[in-house]
Amino acid sequence: MRLVKSVLSIVAACVLLTATGGAQPRSRVVMLGTGTPNADPDRYGPAVAVVVDDTSYLIDAGVGVVRRAAAAQRAGIAALDATRLTRAFITHLHSDHTLGLADLILTPWVLERATPLEVWGPRGLQSMVNHLVAAYEDDLRVRAAGGEPAHQYDPHVVGVHEIEPGVVYRDDRVTVTAFAVPHGGWEQAFGYRFQTPDRTIVISGDTGADSHIADQCKGCDVLVHEVYSEAGFAKRPPEWQRYHSRYHTSSRQVGAIAARAKPKLLVLYHQLIWSSTEEALLKEVRSVYDGKVVSAHDLDVY
Ligand SMILES: [Zn+2]
Ligand SMILES: [Zn+2]
Repeated sequence: MRLVKSVLSIVAACVLLTATGGAQPRSRVVMLGTGTPNADPDRYGPAVAVVVDDTSYLIDAGVGVVRRAAAAQRAGIAALDATRLTRAFITHLHSDHTLGLADLILTPWVLERATPLEVWGPRGLQSMVNHLVAAYEDDLRVRAAGGEPAHQYDPHVVGVHEIEPGVVYRDDRVTVTAFAVPHGGWEQAFGYRFQTPDRTIVISGDTGADSHIADQCKGCDVLVHEVYSEAGFAKRPPEWQRYHSRYHTSSRQVGAIAARAKPKLLVLYHQLIWSSTEEALLKEVRSVYDGKVVSAHDLDVY
């Protein structure tokens, strides 16, 4: 266990120092989960953390989010301790991006987080949170009244903010701007732009290719973008091809977007690779984009 921890620390430190050219930035991007609905045991559900100094801001709450945050905390990122997961920005309500929301509401409460979760996201988020809390009513009652030491607040309280595009959050470390992205049948889906004291970080969430994300990035430090493999796509059944091309962005489309957006670093996540390979995916992106690009894995730090 100790070995795993130290290896993770070294990997995280190396990736970060490489990504930042040697200087330790105040702001870091931690890839908690890089997965999709596919049950890949190496890729947990989509969740990214922007960490500024000792404060964390989560983007999405895929399955396993609290465990992955704990792994990052063990690797040396104190801001991702379970009790410090207090703010989350949800891109859209697809299950792969929200299966960890109950975890994020309930687990840190049991672990004596001092304040309730605050969560921002599309219309329907309040209803989802209400249903999740209601589903665990018996658990909340037994834990609150059944002998667990005192908790810090009423677990029914979750600060939900249903948002529209624009600046949705600001404190002395970050300004968070939500922007609309096209994602098939979803009425509202968002990407997020984080302006921190030293970096601009843009996260696509799930999006089709006809987004305005290049305008949101415009030379940003880190662009985290979803992607699917064109070679893998070619072998998918036609009905799935229709779905993927409407809801998601192909490797060469991401490359074209990055060529306009000019990020200092393009980070691919939510990779739909299917029968192809990560190497082939990167090659497809590089065929139209000559900037710096990496294909992220869980717990990478940039
Ligand atoms: Zn997704
Ligand atoms: Zn989605």
